[in-house]
Amino acid sequence: MKEKVVILGAGESGKGAAILAKKQGYEVFVSDYSPIPNAIKKLLEELEINWEEGQHSGTAMTGAKWVVKSPGIPEKAAIIQSLRAEGHIILSEIEFASRFTDAVIIGITGSNGKTTTTLMTYEILKNAGFNVGLAGNIGQSFAQQVAEDNYDYYVLEISSFQLDDIQKFAPHVAVITNITPDHLDRYNYDFNAYLKAKLNITKNQKSKDWILFNEDDPILTNFLLDQKPKAKLLPFGLLPKAEGTSFQNDKIFINKNEQMNTIDTLGFPFSGKHNMLNAMAAATIGNLLNISDASIRDCLSHFKGAPHRMENVLTIQKVKYINDSKATNVNATFFALDSIETPIVWIVGGVDKGNDYESLLPLVNRKVKAIICLGVDNEKLKASFGNVCEIWVETQSMQEAVKVAHKVASEKETVLLSPACASFDLFNNYEDRGEQFKNAVRNL
Ligand code: ADP
Repeated sequence: MKEKVVILGAGESGKGAAILAKKQGYEVFVSDYSPIPNAIKKLLEELEINWEEGQHSGTAMTGAKWVVKSPGIPEKAAIIQSLRAEGHIILSEIEFASRFTDAVIIGITGSNGKTTTTLMTYEILKNAGFNVGLAGNIGQSFAQQVAEDNYDYYVLEISSFQLDDIQKFAPHVAVITNITPDHLDRYNYDFNAYLKAKLNITKNQKSKDWILFNEDDPILTNFLLDQKPKAKLLPFGLLPKAEGTSFQNDKIFINKNEQMNTIDTLGFPFSGKHNMLNAMAAATIGNLLNISDASIRDCLSHFKGAPHRMENVLTIQKVKYINDSKATNVNATFFALDSIETPIVWIVGGVDKGNDYESLLPLVNRKVKAIICLGVDNEKLKASFGNVCEIWVETQSMQEAVKVAHKVASEKETVLLSPACASFDLFNNYEDRGEQFKNAVRNL
């Protein structure tokens, strides 16, 4: 009799896991608590995979060898609690997929900068002629690519939720961009639990593997060193360092095994210290894989940023409009405010995930001319910044927020959407929020 794999959640990762499990010859059952989109039902039926929606019926789980869980399902969900109590083995989709490939894996995690660093790294490898796939939180799931493609390398963007349920997953290069409070609601508001989940990325690595970590982040650095990981540690950061990757006079210096490589960053088409940190991490990965400095530089010189991340929308009457809708936590917004040199009209707000705005105060004092709140509940923002700026406006729609911003912004200033909050009070997601911003700007 065939062994059984149950997949919880029929989103991108669940669909991929189902395709891979079927290909590997398992009996597969997909269960989703929400309605399953028609296109996915059709695909499951074509693959002769049984499914259920609107429930997780316990009986369907009986006898499962593995349960593959969507990263969207929280640990406290009743089904997870009962599966654990019954002793089921629950795996994340990346754990499951990694069991069926011998490819070299580069795993990128952190609170901010994952997508950007992952895209930069992928471009560097592809540009150098590697047979490489891009997966994880980006685009098609890792599991589906393992089922359908035959890559020698994968660059994976990995969230802490995917790392919660790994057992053997061991990337050859693990990158931790930074760790700041985010998603604490999923970790019982326990920062240490969140830190631990992120550092799971290193737990199965061997001494031949690498950990690249942002040494400018003291919490990450101390926590990581405390864990005494087996893999080789290589720091990166803007501050000078004896070994690792640093930045000085517009150059990235990669210093490892007593060899120095230099990459000139003049002309790189992205701005902000945060993007330079992302570029440093990506360049270091390229270097570890023996890609030449010239090739890395050439690739980063043409890197087009991802949408909704400090994305230039338009300049209207000499006012620049920037869409940073993906800034869903305080640290991302910190770097956004930090990277802009002009006075700022700042559109901020949404669903607060336990934010502490204190770190933004000096920047807001120095640079922000007007605050436009865009959220259902703006009380916390008001308590933090209500007395800081002369102009303080509360709005309830993107159109209104952009109209007010247009009115108060003067020549050579910047209107920045960098909400520091999740989007679910007024928008479907951060993409919806960013698109609405861009449309409102275009309609001015
Ligand atoms: P993630 O995938 O981790 O959410 P993104 O690359 O999508 O990261 O960027 C998310 C937000 O964080 C954007 O607002 C972006 O401008 C900001 N950001 C990008 N890189 C960094 C970094 N290294 N440190 C802090 N903020 C960053």
